[in-house]
Amino acid sequence: MTQLPLLDDLDVDGRVVLVRADLNVPLDDGEITDDFRIRAALPTIELLRERGATVVVCSHLGRPKGHDPALSTAPIAVRLAGLGGFPVVHVPAVVGPVALAAVEAAQPGDVLLLENTRFESGETTNGFELADGLAELADMFVLDAFGSAHRAHASTVGVAERIPSAAGPLLAAEVAALGEILHDPPRPYVVVMGGAKVSSKLGVIRQLLPGADLMLIGGGMCFTLLEAGGFEVGGSLIEESMVAEVKELLESEHGGKIILPLDVVVADRFAEDAETQITPAIGIPEDWLGLDIGPETSEHFASVIAGAGAVFWNGPMGVFEMAPFRSGTEAVAQAMAATSATTIVGGGDSVAAVRSLGLEEQMDHVSTGGGAGLEMLEGTILPGVAALGRWIEN
Ligand code: ADP
Ligand code: MG
Repeated sequence: MTQLPLLDDLDVDGRVVLVRADLNVPLDDGEITDDFRIRAALPTIELLRERGATVVVCSHLGRPKGHDPALSTAPIAVRLAGLGGFPVVHVPAVVGPVALAAVEAAQPGDVLLLENTRFESGETTNGFELADGLAELADMFVLDAFGSAHRAHASTVGVAERIPSAAGPLLAAEVAALGEILHDPPRPYVVVMGGAKVSSKLGVIRQLLPGADLMLIGGGMCFTLLEAGGFEVGGSLIEESMVAEVKELLESEHGGKIILPLDVVVADRFAEDAETQITPAIGIPEDWLGLDIGPETSEHFASVIAGAGAVFWNGPMGVFEMAPFRSGTEAVAQAMAATSATTIVGGGDSVAAVRSLGLEEQMDHVSTGGGAGLEMLEGTILPGVAALGRWIEN
């Protein structure tokens, strides 16, 4: 199990604490369209204030190439202040004299938000000047951005190597939840995989399959598996270059744990108003494309989930963005919400689907990490987590 120094282990009273949060919110024309990440970051900030710290928050926002006013963190400071009910000072710099002066002027209990870390070219290269500059701002560092912990950036790894650091509650919860299913899942342990491409998930599938008792596969990726099994998949999404590798996986020691759809919803074209029908998964008519798992499969997957001890789900079962192809994803989400098993959902689109169905609270853990979560489940020790490891006192 991964050992992490925790925020509770830091004596933050009267200290300046830099928090790397994940405030990478979706923006539309400068407007924040969804503030769940700001809401999620709030308890950590409140905790630090209560404990007498001066709180300096930083985050990346989007993918700016250098300084880009459209991706300033200024609107996030406004929203954070509104949600938190305390003033938030927006600092128009990440490091340097402006940032230092702002921190020096601050008192315990104050909250500052630095400018977008990616305005600095040293962020993504983990440049030592930027890491030094961030470390100079604070006495201590809290990494709470799980979604960025798989990247060795200055604001994740660089600063953590320089000043005493700990995992924030969000990051610690992610590592604990994913660690449990990686190392010691309640059984039967069922993995549900979906999403568009098998190529982006094969590493995770390989890593999870030996430890899982069953793996239910839907989504676009199931057609490459069906093809590898020798079945007709019509015009469905296929990754031809993956077929041989997938075939090997299906025939491998653990391949028998993979459960593929029995029936699928097929459409005559990729469109919301396409003509649809339900066909056996092993005989999709030519020119038709599979865009969701069928009702029989949904029922079967739901009953497996109902009897599980732990379920990890990543990737929608169909093109859930379009109403006619949403049922499979909805069935899995509902079954996970209802089961007594330990349930974890990971992946941007799967989490969005669960959220849009209002079922987030019914899951034991909703992983917001996306790529970081998948990398951890592949068995990788995340660079951000590794950087914190050095601060564990023995
Ligand atoms: P996540 O973000 O949860 O990891 P992915 O990004 O891998 O999931 O996949 C999500 C995408 O997969 C969705 O946009 C969805 O429309 C698409 N998808 C699911 N099933 C199919 C299918 N049968 N054919 C084409 N695309 C699909
Ligand atoms: Mg996705």
